[in-house]
Amino acid sequence: MPDRSESDSRKLLGRLRDAMASAGAGQERLDRVTTLVAESIGTEVCSIYLFRDKETLELCATEGLRPEAVHQTRMRLGEGLVGRVARTGRVVNSANAPAERGFRYMPETGEEAYSSFLGVPIQRLGEMLGVLVVQSKDARDYNADEIYALEVVAMVVAEMAELGAFVGEGAALKARHQQPVTIRATVGQEGVAMGHVWLHEPRVVVTRPIADDPEAELKRLTEAVERLRVGVNRMLDGAADGDAEQLQVLEAYRMFANSRGWLRRMEESIASGLSAEAAVEKEQSAARARLGQVTDPYLRDRLHDLDDLSYRLLRLLTGQGKAAEAEMPADPILIARNIGPAELLDYGRRLKGAVLEEGSVGSHAAIVARALAIPLLVQADRITTEALNGDPIAVDGEQGVAHLRPDESVATAFRDKMAMEAEALKRYASIRDKPAEARCGTVISLHMNAGLMADLPSLEGSGAEGVGLFRTELQFLIRSQMPRRSELSALYARIMASAQGKRVVFRTLDIGSDKVLPYMKAIEEPNPALGWRAIRVGLDKPGVLRMQLQALVRAAQGGPLTVMFPFIAQYEEWRAARAEMDKALERERILGHPLPASLEVGAMLETPSLAFATNRFFEEVEFLSIGGNDLKQFFFAADRENELVRRRYDTLNVSFLTFIEQIVQRCADSGTPLSFCGEDAGRPVEALCLAAVGIRCLSMRPASIGPVKHLIRRSHLGEVREVIAQARARGEQSVRAAVMDYLRR
Ligand code: PEP
Ligand code: MG
Repeated sequence: MPDRSESDSRKLLGRLRDAMASAGAGQERLDRVTTLVAESIGTEVCSIYLFRDKETLELCATEGLRPEAVHQTRMRLGEGLVGRVARTGRVVNSANAPAERGFRYMPETGEEAYSSFLGVPIQRLGEMLGVLVVQSKDARDYNADEIYALEVVAMVVAEMAELGAFVGEGAALKARHQQPVTIRATVGQEGVAMGHVWLHEPRVVVTRPIADDPEAELKRLTEAVERLRVGVNRMLDGAADGDAEQLQVLEAYRMFANSRGWLRRMEESIASGLSAEAAVEKEQSAARARLGQVTDPYLRDRLHDLDDLSYRLLRLLTGQGKAAEAEMPADPILIARNIGPAELLDYGRRLKGAVLEEGSVGSHAAIVARALAIPLLVQADRITTEALNGDPIAVDGEQGVAHLRPDESVATAFRDKMAMEAEALKRYASIRDKPAEARCGTVISLHMNAGLMADLPSLEGSGAEGVGLFRTELQFLIRSQMPRRSELSALYARIMASAQGKRVVFRTLDIGSDKVLPYMKAIEEPNPALGWRAIRVGLDKPGVLRMQLQALVRAAQGGPLTVMFPFIAQYEEWRAARAEMDKALERERILGHPLPASLEVGAMLETPSLAFATNRFFEEVEFLSIGGNDLKQFFFAADRENELVRRRYDTLNVSFLTFIEQIVQRCADSGTPLSFCGEDAGRPVEALCLAAVGIRCLSMRPASIGPVKHLIRRSHLGEVREVIAQARARGEQSVRAAVMDYLRR
């Protein structure tokens, strides 16, 4: 194999482009690619292997191996040297391939004659499409230039595949982005929806991967990089007093935008014949491939930054990709790698659902999705590479599955499921104005959880009696800086006005743990769920709490006000928080502002310790609300954010229900009104059991009010209590089976 020069590479790419441009079927094009590459690089063999399914590679074209092996020879991911390239995404370069560990001999190909092997991945933006291989009889190691040249060809092949150049017969040559795909994911918010893909960051398509004039491409790249640098510097100036995290990202951008290594690699790609945008995409693909292998969170963040930067550069070079230019499809389902809470909120109720490639159950996006009442899936692997704008998609936020381009049978089954839900909704609407009165005559009062102004219309629609939990932190989370007191009080006033006299329980700022304000310094804690959060922050650094309490008092404008402190773990904390409330009232009185006509101040019971507080606490507090999400995680010592353990313990576990019963009893003894506002309040069977053990007030997401009311109205709480008692007497760990059995009967 002769030494390669950049002009050899350019010649090869030029011939490849001509081959692609000529008419012909996908198979013919692939054949031509292998012939050209073998000829140009000077090897006896050049082969292209493509995936026919997620696990299997197929020999799709070859120059030099036996033609009858084409579409016959297949190997599993990881099998043989080709499988190893595909699995690891790394080059395999060997002078003596048969002696390599894992080598697998495919007799039908006649490859025994060839000693040296060079395989490079064919990949695009982190997605592995196949493997490009050259082989020769003499035992030689390929040098860095040759490897680079082959990588450039592989990149072009990947782009061509994306553009549909190789579509033909058989699974390995199927058209991309047209098959149905089922993607398993984690449920961030329950619900089901059908609609069309709306890519938050539209895909940039490189239609011209090969260019003739390297000088001109270099100029385009240099100009685009310069514009990028200016843009990043401007953002940095604008963010000079912003939050540390944003600055860190921008600094990383600046570092990459000025990085010689990054630029040099792109310049080399251009010199070998790629267009400026293909050179950028080659770097982006490499960064994505590394992302798949890096676990260190800091490095992952930096690779993400590099990916974002490449995307910006691609947009500058191609002029494509501005979401605003495209038209949103009907019933849009948002697809993104990740999205911030403010951006998600901007889309608002136009969205029917959202699917994120990353994200977590407790992320801010999930909190907003909950408020918007749209189904959300997180950790949906590869969704952004698979989905195209406008593709039909069904989101199953019950099973945790996204059906992209579903086939007719799946779509029909899904439509049936949605029709059944719509039926159920009609049923719930018919009892909207009726009480949640069980057959035994006990009435359970049902309230809704909220966190945004956008939630308030649900108060009317759901038939909730009031807002049992208003999570005030959402207003803080969706902003890029701390809201001012005047903004908050105006917002709280609007919320009270829209509630039209119904009670709204404002919970003071509950941040820390999973909820980190974008503009506050994040602190590293070994165990954030057990860390400096909620009222602990409010009492240690009372500035924000005081501002918020004042805003609430002002918002009440002399009307009634209800305030609740989160995460109180002991009597002293309650005393201190209550004292802050009194101080706020006093300050407002001195300022001559009207004081609330009536004021109720309560606490959330979210730590087991509070259930054992002194009688004085129960007598002093005006109401208690059990925050079951937190209480359960501490009771069972199972982090609510940790997928490995969070479903391990059932709410209907006898120990937990017994604990709830004890809290009910203590509140009954002291005459303290008690409610339950964790997610379990909105799960009908759980809600029924909570009612059966004595909870008389439940607060839940608005969509749950109908189903919970429906079940309560059909049940007899005394009977359910009896079923629970019997299961307990039999020594069952959870009463779920017994209660389900009762409900079926
Ligand atoms: C809870 O912990 O149950 C609760 C309602 O509060 P949050 O989910 O906001 O922590
Ligand atoms: Mg909580």
